[in-house]
Amino acid sequence: MAARSQSKTAMAWAFFRRGMKLRCPECGQARIFKPWRATRSLDDWFRPLDGCPNCNYKYEPEEGYFLVATWVMNYAVVVGFGFLLAFVVELLFSPPLLVEIAVVILPMPILSLLLVRHSKAMFIALDHYFDPVGAASRRRPPGAE
Ligand SMILES: [Zn+2]
Repeated sequence: MAARSQSKTAMAWAFFRRGMKLRCPECGQARIFKPWRATRSLDDWFRPLDGCPNCNYKYEPEEGYFLVATWVMNYAVVVGFGFLLAFVVELLFSPPLLVEIAVVILPMPILSLLLVRHSKAMFIALDHYFDPVGAASRRRPPGAE
């Protein structure tokens, strides 16, 4: 039992690392997104590849798959950061309310855009970890569309 839970913990960390590195949760080798130097549009930045070029794991099994990633995970991280920043700014500087609102709110959309890739990659990794049966159905045979 202990060895089994330890292996589950190790597996969870492996998925976490792969998600944070924007790598395929299945093989951990290939990228989920185009490298930033190869992005030519915002769509390239936000849209994951169709599947893993290494192991054929399909990243987006259905339309709307990333709604939870973009709305819940990204929103929770950005709002959590906003609350933390507001708390620290108020504690250290106690600026006027309008200055504090500007300091806290202005970085949030930028942070949100920067974290979209990680939110999607972490969602793919979480989905793979908690639904290994569904993940197995997302492995495409080589050469399949
Ligand atoms: Zn892969």
